[in-house]
Amino acid sequence: MILSEAEFHEAATLEQASELMARWGAESRFLAGGTDLLVDLKTDRYRVGHVISLNRIAALRGISPANGGVRIKALTTINELAASAIIRERFPAILDATREMATPQIRNLATVGGNIASAVPCADLPPILAVLHASLSLWSSSGERVLPLEDFFIGPRQTVRRGGEILSEIFVPYPPPRFGAAYARFGLREANAVAVAGVAAGLLLGKDGRVVEARICLSAVAPTPKLVTAAESLLVGKVLDRASLDRVAAAAMDASQPISDLRATADFRRELVGILTRRALVTAQERAAGGKQ
Ligand SMILES: Cc1cc2nc3c(=O)[nH]c(=O)nc-3n(C[C@H](O)[C@H](O)[C@H](O)COP(=O)(O)OP(=O)(O)OC[C@H]3O[C@@H](n4cnc5c(N)ncnc54)[C@H](O)[C@@H]3O)c2cc1C
Repeated sequence: MILSEAEFHEAATLEQASELMARWGAESRFLAGGTDLLVDLKTDRYRVGHVISLNRIAALRGISPANGGVRIKALTTINELAASAIIRERFPAILDATREMATPQIRNLATVGGNIASAVPCADLPPILAVLHASLSLWSSSGERVLPLEDFFIGPRQTVRRGGEILSEIFVPYPPPRFGAAYARFGLREANAVAVAGVAAGLLLGKDGRVVEARICLSAVAPTPKLVTAAESLLVGKVLDRASLDRVAAAAMDASQPISDLRATADFRRELVGILTRRALVTAQERAAGGKQ
C-alpha cells in the first residue's frame, strides 16, 4: 500500500483549518488520528490533493464539565476518553464502546471526532452517544452550528458537514437520576474487529420501576446509526420483563436494514440485533436501578 501524493498542511487554528478546507473543498480532507483516513488514502478508496492536519489546534483538545454535561473536544483520543474521570464516573456506557474498539495502539491515535466524522456505519461511539442525547458543534469561520448527533449522518460516509466546517466538540448532558445506558456489540474476534452489529440502549425508570423513557440505537445494520423509535415506544409505561424484551427485540430486528458482506449475512446480523437489544436493555436497567447510569 503506497500513500498517493498529497500536499500536507498543518493548521494552527480553527480559522486556518476552515479556510484551507474552504479553499480546496472536495480535493482535501482533514486529518485527526489518521487511523481511517490514511487507510482510505493508501487503499485508494478516494484520492485527494491536500491533507489538512488538525493536530496543532489546541482548541480541539480536552474534556471538561460544562452546563450540566461534559464537553468532549474533537481531538480527544479514544484512550483519553476512556481514562477521563468524568466519563468513568458519569458515563459507564461510553466505556462499553471504548473498551471494544480496535487495539490499544489504535485507541491512542484514533479520535472521538474522527470516529463520528468518518460516518462509517459500524463506528462504535455514535450509537451510544445518540442514546445519551449528545449534540455536535460544527465550526467554520462564518459561525458555529449545533445539532443532535443523530442528525449529522445522511448515509454511509456521508454527513451534513458543509464546506469549511470542522467538527469541533461533542456535548453529552448528564443523565437524570434512575437513568441507565449500555452498549452491546458483536465482532468476529475479541480485539481489533469492527462491529458486525451493535445496539445501544438507554432507560429512564420511574420510582415504581416502570420505563418512563427508552432510547435504542442500532449500529452496523443500517446506512447510518439508527434510532428505533417504534421499539422505544413499546417500552414506555412497562416493566422490563421477558414479554416486553421479546416485543422490543422483534421491533428492533424489523427496523434494522442489514446487508450481507464478508463479515456476516444480513440474516445473521438481524438475529444479532435481537440478542444485542436484549443484552443492552438488561444492562441499562441494572445501571438505572443501581444508580450507575
Ligand atoms: C485496524 C483498525 C481497527 C479499527 N477498529 C475500530 C473499531 O473497533 N470501532 C470503531 O468504531 N472504529 C474502528 N476503527 C476505525 C477508526 O480507528 C476510528 O473510526 C477512529 O476513531 C477514527 O478517528 P481518527 O482520528 O483516526 O480519524 P481520521 O482517520 O483522522 O479521520 C477520519 C475521517 O474523519 C474526518 N475528520 C476527522 N476529524 C474531523 C473533524 N474534527 N472535523 C471534521 N472531519 C474530521 C477526516 O477528514 C476523515 O474523513 C478501526 C481502524 C483500524 C485501522
